[in-house]
Amino acid sequence: MTVVEEVFSLFEKRGSESYFGEPVSVTEHCLQAAYAAQTEGAPAALVVAALLHDVGHLIDDIAADIAEWTADAKHEEVGGCWLAMRFGPDVHEPVRLHVPAKRYLCAVEPSYFARLSPASIRTLELQGGPMSAAEVAAFEGERYFAQAVRIRRWDDSGKIAGLVTPRLTDYRGLVAALAAR
Ligand code: FE
Repeated sequence: MTVVEEVFSLFEKRGSESYFGEPVSVTEHCLQAAYAAQTEGAPAALVVAALLHDVGHLIDDIAADIAEWTADAKHEEVGGCWLAMRFGPDVHEPVRLHVPAKRYLCAVEPSYFARLSPASIRTLELQGGPMSAAEVAAFEGERYFAQAVRIRRWDDSGKIAGLVTPRLTDYRGLVAALAAR
């Protein structure tokens, strides 16, 4: 199976599941994140990272009902590892860091926390809550820190019921190009 086939089969198998307490499916959520990245003129690798930022949810068998969660499922680590075997660091590193980016923004931007959805607040607790000052400093030293924060904001925006976006197949060429490098 090529990387493109692997990616598409994951979305086909699990993508229609609802996105953890939000009014969109996982696929719709990912398409909205990628579209937001394109709208901001993000580089190709970051568009693909936005599209695949939740691939960890599609690989792991995580309870669809967030209330069933007993621990943080670490989907960013699962997804980051999966992507690291298929793409360069400009794709997999922002994905690995997109949950720490949420904890980071909660620590440095009070208005950010105020905008989180109820489901996002619930997972924040499981993810360790807002970062400490030491964690903030360490996170800002990450090479892909800025990219991770951008992914995070697109992630948060991708929860709009009925938003029209490009389709998954429209990203086939982009995914193939980045996987081939
Ligand atoms: Fe997401």
